[in-house]
Amino acid sequence: MRGEAKCSKQECDKFVAINELAKRRGFFWNSFEIYGGSGGFVTYGPMGTRLKQNVEAKLRELFIKKIGIYEIESSVIAPGKVFEASGHVDHFKEPMVECQKCKTRFRADHLLEEKGISSAEAEKMNLEEVAEEIERHVIVCPDCGGKFGAPTRYLTMFQTTIGPYQGSTGYGRPEAAQNIFVEFNRLYTAARERLPFGCINIGKALRNEISPRQGLIRLREFTIADLEFFFDPEEPVCDKLSEVENEVLPILLCDTRLKECEDVTNFTVREALDKKIIRSEWQAYFMAQAKRLLEELGVPVSKQRFLEKLTWEKAHYSSQSFDQEVLVERWGWVEVSGHAYRTDFDLSCHMKASGVDMTVYREYETPLETEELAVKTIMAKLGPVYKGEAGKVAAAVAKLPAQQVADALAKDGSIMVDGYQIFKEQVEVGKQKTVVRGKRFVPHVVEPSFGCDRLFYVALEYAYGIKDDRVVLSFPRDIAPVQVGVYPLMSKDSLDTKAKELQKMLSCEGFMTEYDETGSIGRRYARADEAGIQLGITIDYDTLEDDTITIRDRDSWQQVRTKIKDVPKLLHQYFEYKINFQDLGNIISS
Ligand SMILES: [Zn+2]
Repeated sequence: MRGEAKCSKQECDKFVAINELAKRRGFFWNSFEIYGGSGGFVTYGPMGTRLKQNVEAKLRELFIKKIGIYEIESSVIAPGKVFEASGHVDHFKEPMVECQKCKTRFRADHLLEEKGISSAEAEKMNLEEVAEEIERHVIVCPDCGGKFGAPTRYLTMFQTTIGPYQGSTGYGRPEAAQNIFVEFNRLYTAARERLPFGCINIGKALRNEISPRQGLIRLREFTIADLEFFFDPEEPVCDKLSEVENEVLPILLCDTRLKECEDVTNFTVREALDKKIIRSEWQAYFMAQAKRLLEELGVPVSKQRFLEKLTWEKAHYSSQSFDQEVLVERWGWVEVSGHAYRTDFDLSCHMKASGVDMTVYREYETPLETEELAVKTIMAKLGPVYKGEAGKVAAAVAKLPAQQVADALAKDGSIMVDGYQIFKEQVEVGKQKTVVRGKRFVPHVVEPSFGCDRLFYVALEYAYGIKDDRVVLSFPRDIAPVQVGVYPLMSKDSLDTKAKELQKMLSCEGFMTEYDETGSIGRRYARADEAGIQLGITIDYDTLEDDTITIRDRDSWQQVRTKIKDVPKLLHQYFEYKINFQDLGNIISS
């Protein structure tokens, strides 16, 4: 399980194959290789960068264009106060052990997991219990066999100083959510002071992981997409629920997990809400959207599940959480998105720490009229008795609950307040009408949060296939890093000129294209399949005669013949999923 991925032994699973392909075809590799590398940092290559942008474009298309969520872009470094207020400085810690011999440090819970102790169990343990388990299972350093010292908790945020000032601690953000919370007042203004509304923040986040060894699954610097959706807890209705209410969510319930069972239960969104499996309509809505998104990235529902988090597994801010997980060959179920009901936790914390009011006002449709018992001191009667102290006496009376004063006066005819005796005739007791027109409250928040690097990885793993002993990356057509490869049959007889003209025309039309004239046409097709290029257009001698070209499909290897002049329009329709490959021209039987 450990160490650099290499296709040796029987370890040659998809993870290894993908990592090798990724280097060869320019998807991604470990950064800083010339200096021996540094765990948890990757560089996305030319193909990978485009694939990742396409995956993120899917997020933006869904949340921003279709659902109408706002987007902000904000800084990666934040003043210490932000993460002190949010609770991260206290809670964002992992149990760690250090090898006494080679000084290498490991995540204690990950070592326990390798001994069959689930992350759910490990997360519940205190440091003494972790130490006991390490001793009981005789866990030693996987690198050198040395013994471990006592476990400690390690803050997994990157700490820095802002400017040259000692003491002005800053942190690299471990999530992008706080950037949204601290800007709530400005965003609320941008939303024309109406709830509900949501805001997404897609960008780099940093976690100083203790020993990241899972490639793209666990990075120290990664891209996160945090979406905070603000709503009035007294008006929690999701007006878009009908779009998803029959969507089936496979959920691994807490109750099932506690029986050490991994069977999912399928609920429609409607059932999950009716049975109170999911507490918030908006949360259910976003979970259904997340399921669809993963399907669109190529992950079938049968390879997805929502894991309900146990009380002790939940983040410190969350009242109910689900992890959307995808089954991958090497690592089993990995989280690709988290769905947390954060209530008013974050805004309340920042309000308290900053002293800035972050409540919103809601006017009632009909003002509430209430009648309350009120006690009013009669100054004309108090004045002559208490002279200069009359004001103080009146204030003291006002502090007492009206009912208490009324009861005492009715019973004893007087009441002692701060050492002053107040008589019945010195106060007026009666009902007072008040009109309440609205109320101030802190909005509630549900959060879907996606790990973009993990979305990228699962898209790559689910695209990965072998056909006739060759690798084919069968990406969904809207995320393929290159849409069209353009190939002259020969790089002579003006076929190359014609091909370059066509490539130029297609890139002007907005398609991502690639031109390749080296090697046999079969070799070029193979290269294109391995890079996931969706379509290949070949210019041959017939093209010079009748202006027709051949289009080849990456997945079926089928070919069609069509007129050059029709190509742009047809390709637009094809990449928008309006037509299928067979509609691009006349099928050629090969
Ligand atoms: Zn060691």
